[in-house]
Amino acid sequence: MKVTSFDGLGLAEPLQLALKKEDYLEPTPIQVQAIPLLIEGRDLLGIAQTGTGKTAAFALPILHRLSVQRSRCLPRRPRALILAPTRELAGQIDERFRAYGRGLSLRTAVIFGGVGQGQQVKALARGVDILIATPGRLLDLFSQRHVSFEDVSILVLDEADRMLDMGFIRDVRKIVAACGKERQTLLFSATMPPDIAKLSAEILHNPVRIDVSPATVTVDRIDQRVYFVPAQAKRALLVELLEDPAMDRVLIFTRTKHGADKVCKFLGQAGLAVDALHGNKAQNARVRALEAFRSGKARILVATDIAARGIDVPAISHVINFELPHEPESYVHRIGRTARAGAEGIAFSFCDSSERSLLRSIEGLTKSPLAIVAHRHSHAEPASNGHRQDFSPASKPRRNGRRQYERNHEPSPVAKQRREGWRPETAVATPAPKQGQWRARGRRTDSLSGARGALARPRSTRVSLTGEH
Ligand code: AMP
Repeated sequence: MKVTSFDGLGLAEPLQLALKKEDYLEPTPIQVQAIPLLIEGRDLLGIAQTGTGKTAAFALPILHRLSVQRSRCLPRRPRALILAPTRELAGQIDERFRAYGRGLSLRTAVIFGGVGQGQQVKALARGVDILIATPGRLLDLFSQRHVSFEDVSILVLDEADRMLDMGFIRDVRKIVAACGKERQTLLFSATMPPDIAKLSAEILHNPVRIDVSPATVTVDRIDQRVYFVPAQAKRALLVELLEDPAMDRVLIFTRTKHGADKVCKFLGQAGLAVDALHGNKAQNARVRALEAFRSGKARILVATDIAARGIDVPAISHVINFELPHEPESYVHRIGRTARAGAEGIAFSFCDSSERSLLRSIEGLTKSPLAIVAHRHSHAEPASNGHRQDFSPASKPRRNGRRQYERNHEPSPVAKQRREGWRPETAVATPAPKQGQWRARGRRTDSLSGARGALARPRSTRVSLTGEH
């Protein structure tokens, strides 16, 4: 049975209230699967990357379990420990724990390098229930006896493959060895290189394995087309496209809540059955909008990226990017809403002159130019190379229009580098963890963070939309 709310997952009341405050309508697939098992105390191997809702999948049951235990934390002896590769990620996890745990009286602290250790030492001395840390600084503090791991009853290794890439794995092993043996252990990784597989076999006890990288959802199964269109002509183009009866369940993305409202309004005025979904809408209005879309009452839903996170609506025929996202990874997430469960899908992107660089980033990420569609609104639009684009009126959309694309575009950074003999698959900038400097070094890129799958694989390989929800 499909779980469509957090109510049935067994979480304590204050956590459910916090989720309502966060406007989380539905648990994501990894949350549905992981939360009940983690509340039971099982170990977990999670194949998941950022964007799947994995943080809440582990944070909620940790908060639940610690809050029902009611034992107090002792100075310097955290009860739960989360290891993360970077200070940014550690900070984000800490922020999520605070948000979800706002109705509980549990203490969290975050520890990372590159700043003075004074405040961190003080926080540890006051006592923390949940400690989030990067391995290097934590091990420093451990060796100075500012912290002990003996009371750690829940241990999480987040983005384990990235910790391996950054050279933290020995530190991680030392920390794990110092943790209490009677503990629940969770390991999350976007990929499973042999070293991580070995580590998980050693430290996890009879784990459940949850893999939220559905092999069926791939970017190259989606027919992706771009319409170069002046900003002021986007509306007219949208209305024209929506006249096609084949567009029977259409999800439209805008960058902002305000933008979503505006698109929703003019489509409504054009007589179309449409609703909007974004963070400024009251919870019940959002539930209503989603239901109307799911049931087919509203053929069109206009959403922002964040609001769309929890959407799992089958048979979306088309995704339309009315505005291109700032993050190329969001493009991959957006278009993954169509072509679900093995179905083919179609994604249209509107690109005005201010969005050319966003398009280039997207194409750099997916390593494939979008097919350009000729249409009657394109004429006023100059191409990025300064020349006017001259498409003949409405002809059939062309797939893989590389030559046309290259005529109208600056080469993408990836294309440029490829021409210069640099292979994006084998060289990336990674931080040198100890010196805090950035350097380029060759390595497998299928362990990059962010839209890893998308960045990682060579062009011919399918791109997994890991854990779309
Ligand atoms: P994560 O994969 O943990 O990095 O989460 C990605 C984003 O999704 C974060 O901004 C979360 O706040 C958000 N998020 C997580 N779970 C849900 C949910 N069930 N509904 C809506 N947003 C969510």
